[in-house]
Amino acid sequence: MTARILVVDDIPANVRLLEVRLLAEYFEVLTASNGPDAIETCENGKVDVVLLDVMMPGMDGFEVCKRLKGDPATSHIPVVMITALDQVSDRVRGLEAGADDFLTKPVNDLQLMTRVKSLVRLKSLTDELRLRASTTRNIGIEELLSRDFATEDAKPRVLLIDERRSSVERIRKMLRNSAELDVATDPSAGFFQAAETPYECVLISTAFANFDALRLCSQLRSLDRTRFLPIMLLADEGEEGRILRGLELGINDYLIRPIDQHELTARLRTQVRRKRYNDQLRASVAQTIEMAVIDGLTGLHNRRYLDSHLQTLFDRAVARRRPLSVMITDLDRFKSINDTFGHDGGDDVLREFARRLRKNVRGIDLACRFGGEEFVVVMPDTDGAVAEKVAERIRAEIAQAPFAVGNDGKAIEVTVSVGVSSLLKGADSVAALMKRADLALYEAKSGGRNRVVAKAA
Ligand code: GH3
Ligand code: MG
Ligand code: MG
Repeated sequence: MTARILVVDDIPANVRLLEVRLLAEYFEVLTASNGPDAIETCENGKVDVVLLDVMMPGMDGFEVCKRLKGDPATSHIPVVMITALDQVSDRVRGLEAGADDFLTKPVNDLQLMTRVKSLVRLKSLTDELRLRASTTRNIGIEELLSRDFATEDAKPRVLLIDERRSSVERIRKMLRNSAELDVATDPSAGFFQAAETPYECVLISTAFANFDALRLCSQLRSLDRTRFLPIMLLADEGEEGRILRGLELGINDYLIRPIDQHELTARLRTQVRRKRYNDQLRASVAQTIEMAVIDGLTGLHNRRYLDSHLQTLFDRAVARRRPLSVMITDLDRFKSINDTFGHDGGDDVLREFARRLRKNVRGIDLACRFGGEEFVVVMPDTDGAVAEKVAERIRAEIAQAPFAVGNDGKAIEVTVSVGVSSLLKGADSVAALMKRADLALYEAKSGGRNRVVAKAA
């Protein structure tokens, strides 16, 4: 895992110390000796994680953090505050400034690497989601990214998997005000519970008498539903080796007993905030992708999707010497339906038509709304004779049963005309294929409507 880490400290020896350790782990290191320089580097460069000293002359670390988190261009960059004093008030101030994590000087190597690696991993996930979201749609994403997730303080649902009663009670007390805590004392029951419930974080104790907690971590990571569920390990002093293996398996953070309440709530909050942020990004990406290729009225694919996908289906058919057919359907006298029943009545007809169309094609067929009241179905592995039969079945299905429109569900007769074409043996193209289907449709219309015309190959 390589990433670019920005180390900010006014004392050169401190910078050098962290730099050497990070370089040894093959991170790329940038440095800054004051707040304004650090902010500028974040704005310009591709910084993955900032390690930020709190006490600096001029602009202190809290202020730097606040500014980074307040600017949508830099707010997604994880910030780890480095406090000289192990002071609770500093940690609280850091969290208020939006810090993702904190370390105390002298910085312990394992802690340094854990925090940095965990944040780098989260950051790369976020980056990918940001990229996907912004390449497909720019609107909405800025608003989403500038939202302050720290203040969205709905209590997270958290699962603790731990068999020691006393430890469970301690954690329960510590999280009384900051989480909705469920407890599983049996690891395999805990696994199923985690898979079935929308938790936002799971805390796993390493102290099972007859069970390896890391097995549970790896199971949670391999299951789709829990792949992005943050995992925090509750370990004992001297378990560094196990923690390292856990990190390789993808745990997000760890705490060492005796557990400090402040540290627990702070780390939990970081994990939950990140998860919520990424969940929202993921949902936005999914929605963006869907919006881009799905017709909102009928739920069928839209023309944009057809345009990009038909060529692929065509090329595949040619390469495999398999047949391919398309049909274009156009509702008859649709304008008069609109004129009589209004646009909403027309929309009812379009939705119902799409429903019947979908019902009469196979799963591998691609049914799209081509525009207005025209639909296209692409049928892989289907020759002209079969395609014509499918088209005829659809025509009959439309004409046979009346459509219900409007609030009162008035029944009206609807018919459709269909043009069918198929891939030619010799030279052919997507455009020519579509053109032939369109000509066939035109013939169906001029021949009296409510009929299918197939263009012989
Ligand atoms: P033909 O039998 O020759 O196909 O006649 P037609 O009236 O169906 O054809 P024409 O292309 O003249 O009219 C299509 C109408 O479809 C015109 C347009 O207002 C309407 N239309 C296009 N998109 C929508 C839509 O999303 N909803 C509704 N309700 N009507 C639409
Ligand atoms: Mg039309
Ligand atoms: Mg029409």
